[in-house]
Amino acid sequence: PVRTRFAPSPTGYLHLGGARTALYSWAFARHFGGTFVLRIEDTDLERSTPEAVQAIIDGMAWLGLTHDEGPFYQMQRMDRYREVIAQMLEAGTAYHCYSSPEEVQAMRDRATAAGEKPRYDGTWRPEEGKVLPAIPEGRKPVVRFKNPLDGEVSWNDFVKGTITIGNKELDDLVIARPDGTPTYNFCVAIDDLDMEISHVLRGDDHVNNTPRQINILRAIGAPLPEYGHLPMILGSDGQKMSKRKDAVNVMQYPAEGYLPEAILNYLARLGWSHGDDEVFSMEQVCAWFDGSHLSNSAAQFNIEKLNWLNNHYIKQADNERLAALAQPRMQANGAVFVGAPALPAVLALMKERVNTVNELADAAMLFYRAPQPDAALLAQHLTDAVKPALAQFAERCKTVEWSKEALSAMMKEVLAANGLKMPQMAMPLRLLITGQLQTPAIDAVLQIFGRDTVLARLAALG
Ligand code: GLU
Repeated sequence: PVRTRFAPSPTGYLHLGGARTALYSWAFARHFGGTFVLRIEDTDLERSTPEAVQAIIDGMAWLGLTHDEGPFYQMQRMDRYREVIAQMLEAGTAYHCYSSPEEVQAMRDRATAAGEKPRYDGTWRPEEGKVLPAIPEGRKPVVRFKNPLDGEVSWNDFVKGTITIGNKELDDLVIARPDGTPTYNFCVAIDDLDMEISHVLRGDDHVNNTPRQINILRAIGAPLPEYGHLPMILGSDGQKMSKRKDAVNVMQYPAEGYLPEAILNYLARLGWSHGDDEVFSMEQVCAWFDGSHLSNSAAQFNIEKLNWLNNHYIKQADNERLAALAQPRMQANGAVFVGAPALPAVLALMKERVNTVNELADAAMLFYRAPQPDAALLAQHLTDAVKPALAQFAERCKTVEWSKEALSAMMKEVLAANGLKMPQMAMPLRLLITGQLQTPAIDAVLQIFGRDTVLARLAALG
């Protein structure tokens, strides 16, 4: 059975790259009817925080990437790691190493000086017929993995193709520290084994860890998962993503008015393709995401494309939902909702051209605050030629049927009777009713405001 996992280290927030890894692992599991596991890699006690765990869980929940198992916490699995380390010591696939940190550093320096890769020189590695040094008094050993000396590690990466590393490149990895705590690659390998992970999808910053994890799994006779390493996401400037330039934290996106389906669609397309499709639902992604068509080159973040998708999903979104999202921001900006038009209808009118829900909320404010037209602007548009026409218009507003069509027809009659063109009346009307010159179509604006408000605001004409 297919089992995938997302295994974040809780040291900050859920960033875009992590969210994409989670999405792909989730979609892959869904595609094959498998299981998606959430594992929190919290062994870095100095950098891991409960807030960061919560931020990851919140980010995934916002995106709707629900896990089927977990969250499992590595810190709660220490007994299991110790157990495997003991078994490996017993089996001779790991050994105690009493070299001091200074000695190990000296070995590495010597290797570097000899033009080789810095490595542990195997002083404490047991071999047939080898006599090990005397154990230094009072020194606590680390446990090292007995990496094969010859041969190579090779796997068929389902993103990058075949990757082969010679065992000579790998020295004997420390798998437990002097205090007995297990180290990173060891924990990951044991977790993937215990959680029966069939496919590991992760960032390609882990490519160098993979041969180490494979060797550990082999040494304990465990089956190997398949691996796929995703190239990283570059910032909009083509450099490494940084929070100074782009929004890296996934939870910044809801704050800025992005819909989760836009982020998901964007991330799905950022490193994966399905023909020429640009817009797809998560149902479609799950139906199509089988591990093929993953891109092997770094993807570049592009806010215009994300904005385009967000606009697309805002246009599709239910207006009640948009209203619930827009309301807190509008409230904070002083919107008065009592006696004002219903927010969903207003948003429906205004959502065609906005990139974000925040833009939409700001645009909608014109319906929820008292108009304060600029006096000079008003004087410019409210000419003596227009005033009588507006007075007739106001009069007819008392009785006209309150629909867009009827309002529009009535307005045309008033214009014709006074020999005016549409903008001559629409502009001062906009100013009087909304306080601004830029609004959606005037008939729609009038219709939404309602008869009472329109009459009250036109009463200012005298
Ligand atoms: N914890 C690692 C990270 O946050 C991921 C490890 C893995 O996927 O194997 O980058």
